[in-house]
Amino acid sequence: MGGETAKTRLTGVLERIGAACRACGRDPSAVTLVAVSKFHDASAVAELAAWGQTIFGESYIQEALPKIEAAPAGLSWHFIGHLQRNKAKLAVGRFDLIHTVDNVELAHILQKRAAAQQLTQAVCLQVNVAGEAQKSGMAPGGLDALAEAVAACPNLRLDGLMVIPPVFDDPEGARPAFARLRELRDALASRLGRPLPVLSMGMSGDLEAAVTEGATHVRVGTDLFGPRI
Ligand SMILES: *Cc1c(COP(=O)(O)O)cnc(C)c1O
Repeated sequence: MGGETAKTRLTGVLERIGAACRACGRDPSAVTLVAVSKFHDASAVAELAAWGQTIFGESYIQEALPKIEAAPAGLSWHFIGHLQRNKAKLAVGRFDLIHTVDNVELAHILQKRAAAQQLTQAVCLQVNVAGEAQKSGMAPGGLDALAEAVAACPNLRLDGLMVIPPVFDDPEGARPAFARLRELRDALASRLGRPLPVLSMGMSGDLEAAVTEGATHVRVGTDLFGPRI
């Protein structure tokens, strides 16, 4: 029965993404669903994977590593949480995309480990668009310098930008933050002289607004797995 619930939830979220894409003339295949499985176990991951979901997002290294081992093989894992410097090296090579690089020291830790493992680690920069204190993410004013530092790391590949906007009651409330992330991405891509294809933005409550503003990766937890305990 749990499997049926997973199917219904997954279908519902994919339909919402499809409807949002149709409403703004985007191709639904341009939007990747990252299923955020934090606080849900490997069997919940397996249920969703059985219905075709392949990309999963985790926020905590200690929770994620054993779950990845226990989950079906062949899935793609993304890291979407705040990456502490003392745990950062553990993420390298375990996640196909790390969404949350927000300082130069962290980039250098990832670079060092990726070089030691002789691999290229894909990363995004997390931006604190609203300049909220207490929140992870690089302020827009520091973004160029951070991007240049990451671009200079031979074993890191800079794919794009990620945002966690301030919380609003109205799902449209986050839309200016999503639009701002897209503008910052466009400016940075032209400064670096190459495309930055990824815009990681939108969650259960506001994925439509994010898709409308150009999200390529929406990170959905609650509406796929139910509430987190
Ligand atoms: C938990 C989390 C999500 C999922 O949020 P829901 O509202 O449950 O969809 C998305 N992004 C990040 C960074 C998260 O930590």
